[in-house]
Amino acid sequence: ELRLARLGVAGVIYSLYYGFAGPDGGARVRAALAWDAAIRTEPTGEHAMNLLVERARPPLDTPATAPAIAAVYERARKAQAEIARLPVKARLALIDRLAQVLLKRREEIVERVVAATGKCETDAIVGEIFAVLDNLDFLRKHADRLLADRKVATPLAMLGKRSRVWYEPLGVVLTISPWNYPFYQAIVPLSIALVAGNASVYKPSEFTPLTGLVESVLAEAGFGQDWVQVVYGDGTVGAALVDGGPDKVFFTGSVATGRKIMARAAERLIPVELELGGKDPMLVFADATLERAVAGAMWGAYTNTGQSCTSVERLLVERPIYEAFKARLVAESQKLKLGTDRDSDIGRMTTARQIEIVRELRDDALARGARQLTGLDWDGESEWIPPIVLEGCTPQMRVMQEEAFGPLLPIVPFDTEEQAVTLANQTIYGLSASVWSADRARAERVARRLLVGNVAINNVMITEGNHALPFGGAKQSGIGRFKGAEGLHGFCNIKSVMIDADSAKYEANWYPFTA
Ligand code: NAD
Repeated sequence: ELRLARLGVAGVIYSLYYGFAGPDGGARVRAALAWDAAIRTEPTGEHAMNLLVERARPPLDTPATAPAIAAVYERARKAQAEIARLPVKARLALIDRLAQVLLKRREEIVERVVAATGKCETDAIVGEIFAVLDNLDFLRKHADRLLADRKVATPLAMLGKRSRVWYEPLGVVLTISPWNYPFYQAIVPLSIALVAGNASVYKPSEFTPLTGLVESVLAEAGFGQDWVQVVYGDGTVGAALVDGGPDKVFFTGSVATGRKIMARAAERLIPVELELGGKDPMLVFADATLERAVAGAMWGAYTNTGQSCTSVERLLVERPIYEAFKARLVAESQKLKLGTDRDSDIGRMTTARQIEIVRELRDDALARGARQLTGLDWDGESEWIPPIVLEGCTPQMRVMQEEAFGPLLPIVPFDTEEQAVTLANQTIYGLSASVWSADRARAERVARRLLVGNVAINNVMITEGNHALPFGGAKQSGIGRFKGAEGLHGFCNIKSVMIDADSAKYEANWYPFTA
């Protein structure tokens, strides 16, 4: 009940924030509340159909032949010329319309996403509607300023000249997405690319194609023909699209695929941005508020069924509170409810392969002496995985090194700050981390020593919630930054410009060198 009320309040806040507070505000707020009720209704026949379609691995619908791919890029280049002619303000008007369309069609979007991924409705609403709206809101408020021509200082020796930076489109951006946030991972990069003046070619994951949904939402918002072309298919189609010669590849997915894409793009010197996996540590010091830290650990580890790149994957707890923390974590984790409806906390796993990975990592840990504290009734096969807390894990075990991408959480005690930092940094990944302590100075000191792209203090998974912040990984978690000013500029050709007077008489370093 409390959870429902919480989301109800969040729903109202979002509704007010996104323009429901106009003259007919009352009616709109009621409509927003009706949304809460509507998405709790029983699945319709269509929903059941989607479920069947989305759960089956779709066939390759686009033959990845070179001529077919070349035709995609030819259309994209024509479309890009149209987009580039639109002033930024006109592009932002489309973003505004897109936000309205998402609000209007939210029930359908949530249904499709739940059917495609198995995530619970709350995860779909928060992660794929609210988060997208937040990003569009950032663009609406800041993109015009961030893309405006920028004056920069000119040294005295260059007297009389002026210096500028122009943010121009790159051309055609290829976005390749994973299956864990299929709507967010489509709309957000496609919107940013458009605002910066680019056309997009977009390949969703073959596991969660959401067939037709992205095209239809963008068309309703007023995006022109071919501004975004969605090409369905698996990795072979993705590889062929990289070969097709986009001006940039924006890739989100696993380290293994990221490496392949970068190697392929290198042959053509195409810039790549890679948003890859993580093995995020959560460091809890003894002076942290225990109840809050346990609640944060559960949210961080289990939300989206643990299938987030920034999920908490390693829980490091200072020895004096370790036993109390563990006892509470075990008790609270067991209360969470599996299911996809609005009253459930943890949805089902999205792919069969990911279920296998969770099982393999758990079994490896158990075989090497770890103990499983919760989730003992999971048969190792079911797509409904209850929260699994493991203790007695050592850094050598796979579960401490490899991304589990499921509700699997090793809890490990530490004795000193030094030991905590060493443990935290001991993987190939460096996506994000969190530090929990009442001592702010210590928390910041530790946070600075973590080799990650994002860090939260006394909270978890929130840096990605603020779309003004750049997001990205250190070490093998990625290359480049997405979102915020840095992310928007990442979709631009950043052109440096100097302007001199046509009548300037003297240049110190021109010929002749001798008078
Ligand atoms: P994946 O790497 O298997 O697939 C991602 C996409 O790449 C899919 O669309 C796939 O078809 C395509 N692909 C596969 N092989 C390709 C190739 N050779 N060339 C071009 N495209 C190819 O990843 P996944 O299993 O779909 O997603 C899970 C991974 O994504 C996890 O590691 C997770 O951490 C990561 N992820 C990272 C972020 C982030 O922002 N850092 C966000 C979400 C997910």
